[in-house]
Amino acid sequence: MTAYYHNLFEEALKKDVIKTVMEMVDGDETTLSILQQEIRTLTPDFTETIIPIKKYIYRGDFTFSEHNCCARVWNEGYGGQCTRKKKNSSRICGKHQNMIDKYGELWLGYTTDDCPRNPVHPNGKVHQWRHHLKD
Ligand SMILES: [Zn+2]
Repeated sequence: MTAYYHNLFEEALKKDVIKTVMEMVDGDETTLSILQQEIRTLTPDFTETIIPIKKYIYRGDFTFSEHNCCARVWNEGYGGQCTRKKKNSSRICGKHQNMIDKYGELWLGYTTDDCPRNPVHPNGKVHQWRHHLKD
């Protein structure tokens, strides 16, 4: 990569990072000033290729399907409805029934109920939804 493009990418990346973080934290002028100082000192390295392991689907405005399992899924913090079919006369699929059998409940609840705030995974880790990060 030539120095010209390196600088071009670096500037675009820094602007993008600042914009993204500002939106995530709903930052004010002070946040912006701190971010700009912090980001300015960083030197991005464009030699490493990072291959995304997981793909998530933005399901923020998904429509509920009555044919599918009613369990809420994590979906990398974006939430959504389980895409498996309901099992027999149950309102959920076999996988989510197994979770109920094992843990006594669904840690993310049902899509027909309100979204739980700061849900706790059966492993004990507290999770935060992406749409709750701002408030
Ligand atoms: Zn399911």
